[in-house]
Amino acid sequence: MDATVRNYLDQYGVSDATRRFLQKPQKMFIGGDWVDSSNGATFDIFEPSTGGLITQGPPGTTDDLDRAVAAARAQFDGGEWRRLKPLERERMLHRLADLLETHADELAEIEAIDMGKSVTFAREIDIQGTIDTFRYFAGWPTKLHGRTVEPSIPGNYLAYTRKEPLGVVAAIVPWNFPLQTMAWKLAAALAAGCTVVVKPAELTSLSTLRFAELVEEAGIPAGVVNIVTGKGSVIGAAMSTHPGINKVTFTGSTPVGQEVGRTAVSNLKHVTLELGGKSPVLVLDDADLASAARAVANGVFFNSGQVCDAGTRVYIQRSVHDAFLEELIAVARELKMAPGLDRDCYIGPMVSAQQKKVVASYIEAGVREGAKLVYGGASPEGPGHFIEPAIFAHCTPEMSIVREEIFGPVLVTSPFDTLEEAVALANDTPFGLAAAIYSNDLARVHTLIPQLHAGSVYVNAHSTIDPSMPFGGFKDSGFGKDLGPEQLDYLMETKAVWITLP
Ligand code: NAD
Repeated sequence: MDATVRNYLDQYGVSDATRRFLQKPQKMFIGGDWVDSSNGATFDIFEPSTGGLITQGPPGTTDDLDRAVAAARAQFDGGEWRRLKPLERERMLHRLADLLETHADELAEIEAIDMGKSVTFAREIDIQGTIDTFRYFAGWPTKLHGRTVEPSIPGNYLAYTRKEPLGVVAAIVPWNFPLQTMAWKLAAALAAGCTVVVKPAELTSLSTLRFAELVEEAGIPAGVVNIVTGKGSVIGAAMSTHPGINKVTFTGSTPVGQEVGRTAVSNLKHVTLELGGKSPVLVLDDADLASAARAVANGVFFNSGQVCDAGTRVYIQRSVHDAFLEELIAVARELKMAPGLDRDCYIGPMVSAQQKKVVASYIEAGVREGAKLVYGGASPEGPGHFIEPAIFAHCTPEMSIVREEIFGPVLVTSPFDTLEEAVALANDTPFGLAAAIYSNDLARVHTLIPQLHAGSVYVNAHSTIDPSMPFGGFKDSGFGKDLGPEQLDYLMETKAVWITLP
């Protein structure tokens, strides 16, 4: 750890537990063992608010992946996990949730230090969401069952279905909500009786490695959960072709997801793809403008805009356009830009220097293409990868800031007149992850909901997530669902059993 990061941790009084974790050598968790990369190499892990070096991690190799898959395979094919009674599996998942709760503050600090996000939001959203997801899915093992059927064909049969776990699941996770996204994939897979190999994003492996210590402490048998850190182009790509893996569940960008999907399907693996977005927001003329402005700003600037379903395209009915824009700018002015460990931080840094560069280049492109920058958009000099929230007005559909996912705090707006026009603008995108409507006119709201091509529709809210509700996109935002009972359907096979009776 370099002096910049040490001073940063001192300045914000980071706990001894977090320091101890960050200072020890980081290892992967494979088959219940803590191991270095098989080639002995390491990669640097940086802190985004200061740009300083935190520690080093092991870049997994395909040999490491082979060992992880073999361990997961052995547990699935004949190990203790497969033989565990459902109630016992529930107990183990609850035990893990208890440990996550006990160490929640520490996990929030690790997430804030590794990813740069607000420690307050990390605790309230990422870590609480992780705990809630494990609690929710802990309730499922005793409720998974098939059905008995009365066939109409001639003969006398007992016909019934069985729900069986798919097998070894590979989970590929992005950097924006590292622990929470991992939990979305892992909790349901474990509840279904699968075993798992997780590959966290290269930029944010630390909370997942701390989580693996809690998996061990919870007494989950060795090999049920395996963590292989390292490059997507090495480990992620090898997961899609690995013969020992039955399913790949991927969350990340659309281009990488398309590649993972193509490869995995070509060797007949099951696939879930949770991909990018460019979600529209419709502000109708009867909306409560002040509260809508708060929710819209939160829907795009939360996590510094590094959110897959961020409401980045805001269409405002013309009669309230100027008034709403003013409200929105007033809210944006109040958002505190600060290092992630500052408890009042709202806008933390971008995850990396590269991500800051990408976002800044989109802001420049917006200005060049003729959109009006009505608020923010500055890129302060370092330390840290900060970028001010930006609001653009009078954007047109062909602009790159309107068409492409930016994954930063950039909001584009334009006016509309009729609801037909609003729907056409909202759906004019290859993505279909989410959409939002701000209005108190129930008839208009219910008319709009079925017309929006999106996996989630929020009304007078944005990004309301609960483990009991499914999450997943339409169109180029992917297919399959995380969360809710729906997710379990993507993790289990249905076996049809026919028994001839005398
Ligand atoms: P990314 O696609 O670059 O990486 C995602 C994961 O894939 C990482 O673990 C990465 O190492 C791995 N990867 C990279 N190349 C790979 C390859 N060739 N084969 C297999 N795996 C590979 O995405 P990111 O930059 O980490 O995350 C941001 C993106 O994720 C955004 O597009 C965002 O919208 C999307 N996202 C979607 C959701 C959702 O639920 N729909 C949630 C969060 C983020």
